[in-house]
Amino acid sequence: MPKEKKLAIYPGTFDPITNGHLDIIQRAVSLFESVIVAVTTNPSKAPLFTVSERVNMIEEATSKLENVTVENFSGLLMHYAEKRNADVIVRGLRAITDFEYEFQMALVNRKLAGDIVTVFLMPNEKYTYLNSTIVKEVAKFDGDVSSFVPQNVHENLIDRFKNE
Ligand code: ADP
Repeated sequence: MPKEKKLAIYPGTFDPITNGHLDIIQRAVSLFESVIVAVTTNPSKAPLFTVSERVNMIEEATSKLENVTVENFSGLLMHYAEKRNADVIVRGLRAITDFEYEFQMALVNRKLAGDIVTVFLMPNEKYTYLNSTIVKEVAKFDGDVSSFVPQNVHENLIDRFKNE
């Protein structure tokens, strides 16, 4: 299938990136000409990793994918998306529980910038139970998260929790 010549932004906290996020990025790459993974700097949650640590981990994990770049942004997503001339916002939908929040966000974002389309992608079902919070919980108590996150993230998690 020829790719749409479109710029897609995949925004999130990515604290840290998981195999579920990577699955969505791969799907976005197969659909759109270029994909920006955009890490929010908004401190709504107290993150485990700094913005630059999160950006670096995503860069390493996506280094083999063509046309993926990683950036950070602050403030409103739609202001940033307009500035970058994005066509599409990509979000991942895991389960019905994601739906209500994502639906609300997508409609608000459409009001803010009607030309930018939100596209929802579903990951492989083996990732539907994954989120960054559960990965951090398991890693914190020495559980094995090697099948949940890319290798570099696994190493960073071990390092971060080794003194606890
Ligand atoms: P946010 O704080 O914006 O929700 P996240 O990093 O938690 O940031 O998630 C970014 C996006 O990735 C969201 O659309 C979320 O639904 C999606 N996502 C998170 N984990 C997964 C997963 N395991 N599979 C598919 N999509 C996911």
